[in-house]
Amino acid sequence: MRICFKAIDDRIGCFALIKIMEKLKVNAEVYAVATTQEEVGLKGARTSAFKIDPAYAIAIDTNAAGDTPQITERESSLKLGAGVSITIIEASGRGLIVNEKMKNVLIDAAKKNKIKYQIDVIEGGMTDGAIIHMNREGVPTGVLSIPTRYIHSPTGVFNIEDLNSAVELAVKAVGDLAK
Ligand SMILES: [Zn+2]
Repeated sequence: MRICFKAIDDRIGCFALIKIMEKLKVNAEVYAVATTQEEVGLKGARTSAFKIDPAYAIAIDTNAAGDTPQITERESSLKLGAGVSITIIEASGRGLIVNEKMKNVLIDAAKKNKIKYQIDVIEGGMTDGAIIHMNREGVPTGVLSIPTRYIHSPTGVFNIEDLNSAVELAVKAVGDLAK
């Protein structure tokens, strides 16, 4: 089912965080952070990552789906309903280049639990993951995103199945990291 409303980027990230925390049953200290001012310099992620000093981090965000006429396949191959997106590179490498262990944890958890996912290499944008992974001595960080049409415009569209996949994958991956 597709859903359309305003400020999907990144209200659904906050919604996903709540669902993830409801479902998590791990023997680890887990923080869910709704960061401020991501769009204008990843500011809240910088200060909260410094305070928490995490062993691992997963940023939850939206990213531009490419299945509309204005966007070429090269600009974004992401499709609504094809699953949560696992980011490999952001902003052509100026943002996060995913840590090898985190990449494997996320992809293995998706395969093991039959969670639909798509791989994303982003030419332009970045997420909180871009600043969290450079916190202190470095933090292995992954980025899970929900493909969304028309982000940064008055209304967006996403598929609820992709949101569910993001929640499920985050829960499984945190479970694996906590072992
Ligand atoms: Zn955004």
